[in-house]
Amino acid sequence: MRSHRDVADVLRLTATGVSDYEVTRRTGVPRSTVHRWRTVGSPSSPSTPCPVCANGDPPPPDAYAYLLGLYLGDGWIGAHPREVHRLNIYLDASYPGIVEACATAMESVRPGQQADRHPHPSSNMVIVRLYSQHWPCLFRQHGPGKKHERPIALVPWQTAIVDAEPEALLRGLIHSDGCRIMNRASTEKKTYFYSRYQFSNRSHDIHNIFRDACDRVGVDWRPSGQYTTSVSRRASVAKLDKFIGPKA
Ligand SMILES: [Zn+2]
Repeated sequence: MRSHRDVADVLRLTATGVSDYEVTRRTGVPRSTVHRWRTVGSPSSPSTPCPVCANGDPPPPDAYAYLLGLYLGDGWIGAHPREVHRLNIYLDASYPGIVEACATAMESVRPGQQADRHPHPSSNMVIVRLYSQHWPCLFRQHGPGKKHERPIALVPWQTAIVDAEPEALLRGLIHSDGCRIMNRASTEKKTYFYSRYQFSNRSHDIHNIFRDACDRVGVDWRPSGQYTTSVSRRASVAKLDKFIGPKA
């Protein structure tokens, strides 16, 4: 039986993204135990019943809608041994606030597990990751191949959450695959600056999910280019600014 201190030390270290080997070296807890606590759950953090396959409580709708937006934008679910899956969200390391918001949302959707923040080896990205057996239950869009090469449709319980929390979904979509940019327009007398939002993704279905959420909150959008949806009307930009704003 391991002490609470051991469990706390292991979870704190695994959350920083160090290897199981390194956690074992620093704590003396066997590597197989570190691996099990990190993937399946630790003694102090029994995983909560899945809302989809085990009749558990539904996920907090705002955290779920935000995480769904991040997942649809730039997330991927990988399979690991013993039916454990890992949700990986790829984020720009320049925006630590978004990285933390992502980790918090993951931990709210699967309470009892800790997300880790893994620096991408070759780019300025952070992969926020968390293990659960139930990611494929929670993100039914999981499947083989790239998201833009297969249909992406929300199931009814997801649609109900998204309809209730369109702002959180839009925030997640913009935080992963969107941006808020400043445009410049000049006349002879004056130069004007105005901002716009752009959402870029190669999946037509995901654009429609973005556009439906915009419609729901009364934000005007238009397609710009094959893979981009833009929001540029001043009143609509102001609406998005209330719950998204510049990335940070
Ligand atoms: Zn499940």
